[in-house]
Amino acid sequence: MNKYIKIPENKDIDLDMMINLYLDPLNIYIPIFKKEKFKLNTYIYKNTYFDNFISSVSGKISGSKKVIINGKSCPALEVTNDFKENVLKKNKKKKIKNKEELIQILNDYHLIDIIKKMSNKDIKNLVITSVDEDIYSYNELMILANYANKICNTITELLNILNIDTATIAVKNTFFKAIKNLKAIIGTYPNIDLKLLNDYYLISYDTFICKELNIKEENSLILTSNDIYNLYNVLIKGNIINEKFVTISGNAVLKSLVIKTRLGISIEELITKLVKITNSEYEIYLNGPIKGEKINDISNYIITNDIRNIVINKREEKQIVDCINCGVCYKVCPFNINVINYYNKNKKCSKCSGCGLCNYVCPANIDLKSKVYGGKHE
Ligand code: SF4
Ligand code: SF4
Repeated sequence: MNKYIKIPENKDIDLDMMINLYLDPLNIYIPIFKKEKFKLNTYIYKNTYFDNFISSVSGKISGSKKVIINGKSCPALEVTNDFKENVLKKNKKKKIKNKEELIQILNDYHLIDIIKKMSNKDIKNLVITSVDEDIYSYNELMILANYANKICNTITELLNILNIDTATIAVKNTFFKAIKNLKAIIGTYPNIDLKLLNDYYLISYDTFICKELNIKEENSLILTSNDIYNLYNVLIKGNIINEKFVTISGNAVLKSLVIKTRLGISIEELITKLVKITNSEYEIYLNGPIKGEKINDISNYIITNDIRNIVINKREEKQIVDCINCGVCYKVCPFNINVINYYNKNKKCSKCSGCGLCNYVCPANIDLKSKVYGGKHE
């Protein structure tokens, strides 16, 4: 990393160290991107794909609703859960022997993000990062802490498939429970090493992880513990992925939780059922207050694959003033972008990762990121 930035831990966060389950919603919502018509009461089987979105329960279409996906409003079917978990056909578990077969099975199970990470690489190194990229998010850590054996078994399977000798699990050195659980079992997995990382913001980015491990990015496959948990379901259990880990945290909730839930659930329902909000004046962020976005009305948001955390913080009034040319936004940018220059010219910068650090440090509270970030993701 060009610059190491440590974001102070929020002492008000009280995290439940168990993963909470919320798997039986009354309704789920399926966004419909094509102009297709569906009749009320049509039966929808669990694990049916509508484009790339999956029905995570079985039941009848009971209505429709507008939902917001990637910042855009889109129609969605409401499916009322009949709690029967009816699937049209069961998937058969297959023994996978090599990378090509792995890519094929990942395609069949719609794990496109993992395929993207693998494609066009002669993979020599396998790294599993159990580091969350957003502050107030604990999914990666908690998956490792709670499913250490499953994670290590799946890594071993993956090493065999990819014909690689060893893998490294990278964890922040402050995550004591995950480290303790891992250390208790890692001796039985001689092909897996543990690497402790300093607690810096963005240390989870592939570029920075490779630098820390002194390996080349172009021949390293970097997966998260969530990716490995999904691979565990696909390769070892033969399950289709219709669940999602999400953190609900912040300094306006009594207890912060990592939740295993279903895709398509209303976020408002999750918040109402699972967390106690302690402040009447609060604000909600999706994917963190630094990297993510503030949401004024949460009622049209559902759990999708790109939602990692929901942060509920005490409301803070920030006054936006004129730039004082302090240069701090440039100093913190991990990619050395002259942010204010791009901002003044109203130009996007292709190097910007959208990390939000420039916004976080700006004393004038200027929203630089939304002008400079062009949508590239790490
Ligand atoms: S959001 Fe973009 S410009 Fe701002 S600090 Fe991050 S990478 Fe740099
Ligand atoms: S950090 Fe804010 S005030 Fe300082 S130069 Fe950048 S935009 Fe201007």
